[in-house]
Amino acid sequence: MHEFTSVHEAIERIKQMQPLPRKVRIRMGKMRGSAKAFEEMFREHTRDTGLQGIGLEIEQVPVEISCQCGLEGTVRVMGHVHFVRCPRCGHITDAIRGNELEIEVLE
Ligand SMILES: [Zn+2]
Repeated sequence: MHEFTSVHEAIERIKQMQPLPRKVRIRMGKMRGSAKAFEEMFREHTRDTGLQGIGLEIEQVPVEISCQCGLEGTVRVMGHVHFVRCPRCGHITDAIRGNELEIEVLE
């Protein structure tokens, strides 16, 4: 699952922070899947580690494209996706937003 990769990336990045944060905000692009699945997996993979019980605020970032056909804007994606297809012309197009994984320390 795509969330799994994101969870591992987040855990690795948080583990390197000194001191370890007690609460973080994660801005997660919708291409990375659902916040709910992310949080469940995060909890499972941090159990019995220094990150157990850390506060999580997850903010989901919508997917936005800018296609060669001229279409620009937000598109809906279902679940975790590796690429986005333009709803107008059908081309596989680069997302300009929606794949980020940003971690901000809150406490
Ligand atoms: Zn297009």
